Amino acid sequence: MNRAQTPHGAHARTLWATVFALLLLGCLPAPAGSQQPTYETIDACQAIDELRFDGDRANASVEWQVNLGPRLPGSNESAALRENITSDLEALGYSMTEQTHQRYDMTLTNLFATWSPVNTTSTGQLVLSAHYDSRNVADQDENESNRSLPVPGANDAASGVAVLLELARHIPSMGLNHQVVLFFNDAEDQNQRYTLGAEAWAENLTSDEVNNTHAFVLLDMVGDADLQLHNVLPGNDTLKSRVVELGTSLGLVNGTTDCAGNPGEDIVQYDTLVGVLDDHVHAHELGIPAIDLMDTSYGTPKPYTFGSHWHTMEDTPDKVSAESLGSVGRLVELGVLTGAFVDVKPPVEEAENPSVGLEDPLTETGAGDGGFEPLQFTALAVVLVIVGVALAVYRRSESADKP
Ligand SMILES: [Zn+2]
Repeated sequence: MNRAQTPHGAHARTLWATVFALLLLGCLPAPAGSQQPTYETIDACQAIDELRFDGDRANASVEWQVNLGPRLPGSNESAALRENITSDLEALGYSMTEQTHQRYDMTLTNLFATWSPVNTTSTGQLVLSAHYDSRNVADQDENESNRSLPVPGANDAASGVAVLLELARHIPSMGLNHQVVLFFNDAEDQNQRYTLGAEAWAENLTSDEVNNTHAFVLLDMVGDADLQLHNVLPGNDTLKSRVVELGTSLGLVNGTTDCAGNPGEDIVQYDTLVGVLDDHVHAHELGIPAIDLMDTSYGTPKPYTFGSHWHTMEDTPDKVSAESLGSVGRLVELGVLTGAFVDVKPPVEEAENPSVGLEDPLTETGAGDGGFEPLQFTALAVVLVIVGVALAVYRRSESADKP
């Protein structure tokens, strides 16, 4: 039979390669988000006309959250904030869920608002997150008698929540074909325990949920009136370069011109690298593309800290501005609109590389275990501390060089 004949020559090989590639493509599921134009094909400058984010509304939310009082895990104020978010977002068509976890004598509650597109086959989700708890101790305050008091938490917590809430008003009309999950995480900032809510969430993700998550975009301390967004380590490089591109379009990058031809402000400062152990680290360790949009210099620079207002009683609404909230809000809104936060997964081989794998310790640990301390996390923490100290020293010497 002729079928047994093996074709020879370059043309035949090309033919077979093409057939094989087509067969392979036919077997693969369509990637989530592939029904829409991709980030590469969308003109960000045109999308800017569609931005609706209102910085004044976000600023009013910061004031309102601070007026509630400290939003400590398990407190009435924390519950009041959740109830308010839940009723507001349910009215916008979001489906709301809560997950509680016990950690270090705390009951923490993660709150999720999920917006699902109608008539889509996509199973992909984009997670936008901010912690909603405020720190229980102002342990960086100059005044020693303040150090046991809970911080007002205008920038450190309320700003990120405020940006998510304002974005929530606009997401349903964006025509997206993937889910958006607004994840209000709890217990990021209590005593010397950090990112507990995000950690508990990550521990309980199934591998399908991990694979279906386009990206984890964290907003933390994004309201500083003197806004500077830094290049936070760790983080996904593709997301970072897209943030710089979008920031350039919006006039947030010094030395560039925006879509209208105006010089950019010095807001997206990705030449400044800062190691931060924040909520996004847990998603990042699972192989989910993650980025932390954060201003690591709140108030005047102070060595080994995130600025003179950080974790002090000075973290009040007057230090936060509608303009800064608007800049960050528009940046994220433009990112969602242009698909900048989807289709950024690393290649499959890379994601399945066992040297990255944190899935084993996660599945072994399971839910409700407060003792999750994978070796990789500890090693990362050590690296970040070294990077952080080196940067603090570098920035100190750098600022000493300036007038
Ligand atoms: Zn904090």
